[in-house]
Amino acid sequence: MNFDPNDPRWTDWKWQHANSCKDLDTLNRWMDSAGQSASFDPGQFNELTTNYRMGITPYYFSLIQQFNASDPIYRQIIPSSHELMIQPEELKDPISDENPARGSRPLKTLIHRYPNRVLLLPTAQCAVYCRFCFRKRLVGDTAHNASKEDLQAAYSYIKQHEEIEEVILTGGDPLTLGDRSLSTILKRLEEISHLRLIRIHTRLPAVNPYRLTPELGQTIASLEKPVWISTHFNHPHEISTIAGQQINTWVQRGIPFLNQSVLLQGVNDSAQVLKELFMGLIEIKVKPYYLHQADLVQGTGHLRVPVKKGLELLRKLQGEIPGYALPHYVLDRPDGMGKIPLQNQYYDTIKHTED
Ligand code: SF4
Repeated sequence: MNFDPNDPRWTDWKWQHANSCKDLDTLNRWMDSAGQSASFDPGQFNELTTNYRMGITPYYFSLIQQFNASDPIYRQIIPSSHELMIQPEELKDPISDENPARGSRPLKTLIHRYPNRVLLLPTAQCAVYCRFCFRKRLVGDTAHNASKEDLQAAYSYIKQHEEIEEVILTGGDPLTLGDRSLSTILKRLEEISHLRLIRIHTRLPAVNPYRLTPELGQTIASLEKPVWISTHFNHPHEISTIAGQQINTWVQRGIPFLNQSVLLQGVNDSAQVLKELFMGLIEIKVKPYYLHQADLVQGTGHLRVPVKKGLELLRKLQGEIPGYALPHYVLDRPDGMGKIPLQNQYYDTIKHTED
């Protein structure tokens, strides 16, 4: 398929999904349509995408403004030769999702890290494949999709564990599932009386906002249990007019939105960009929730920002934006034991002046 934002099917989320760019030929054609000459070495590109697949929706490609690694969208989504440089401290599973010693993965589709909530992974498919993904070892691999039996086992586990109050649908990206599959999962969870909350982690509002259809919004809004949508925007260029409008149609139905960003070198590692990102999210009624320190995933050294710099950026933002626009800066522990808040030591400063 050629890249054509005027295609009449452009606003159909399934068309966006079905026509995503997955190979070098398509990428070359799209670059050509955008008036750019591609300069990828086919051998190296093949090696890169064998290591970790490529996936770009036409919509997300249309957000690229400059066709090189200085562009924040390009940098997040186009494979880079830097990915072949694996550093000794980098890991395939950087937050120990699969560490049996932690007992955190009782089932193929379920991660139980905190007592009162579980992650349910109904699909490993994503609309795009972010180059920094902490689950790059499994995303896109159909072997990791949940079967009906896997989901049944997950519902049984959740029913048996009355301490579980929240189920977080993640993956992969749960909103890549069709309405019928998603609706079945949500209804099965709705039937579990001790569950209080459902959360859906999704990058679709940033990479294929047409997925936020009125029909799916209606299904979610009609549930008795609250369903929070946790989106993933990393740069103000992702907060397009259409993304804001689509989110607003669900917000008007009473569906609340949070956002988790990843701090990424060359994408959002400046106070000005983070300010625009967080203020832009608040303007479209999405609460910035977490800013993640990028995990130690293999081949992502060129995208990581030192924690010291992250703390400096947060310090600069303090007072620059309203407190409710400032997310928690967190690090996922490599041993699978959850998140650590990364904070500047303000209390020490106060203490010294008061002593
Ligand atoms: S959408 Fe999320 S899970 Fe999928 S590749 Fe991007 S970061 Fe990974």
